[in-house]
Amino acid sequence: MLTDCHQASVLISQASERRLSLTERARLHLHLGVCRACRNFAADLPVLGKAARALAAGLPQSGAEEGAGVEPRPGTKG
Ligand SMILES: [Zn+2]
Repeated sequence: MLTDCHQASVLISQASERRLSLTERARLHLHLGVCRACRNFAADLPVLGKAARALAAGLPQSGAEEGAGVEPRPGTKG
């Protein structure tokens, strides 16, 4: 079961107030691994900043992002 952005933001906020359970941390990590928005949000917090940045650094740069990517353009022809 994937954690959605709302659940992730709640966990991120709660992480600064209490200690998240192992399950919560795992779910949050999973979500941060695939969601840049929440990763940026978490990076703002000192508690999760390290983890979020480590995740960001460990992730491959090339990802499937909407609206981004290098596509061959058949229009250009010399
Ligand atoms: Zn998210």
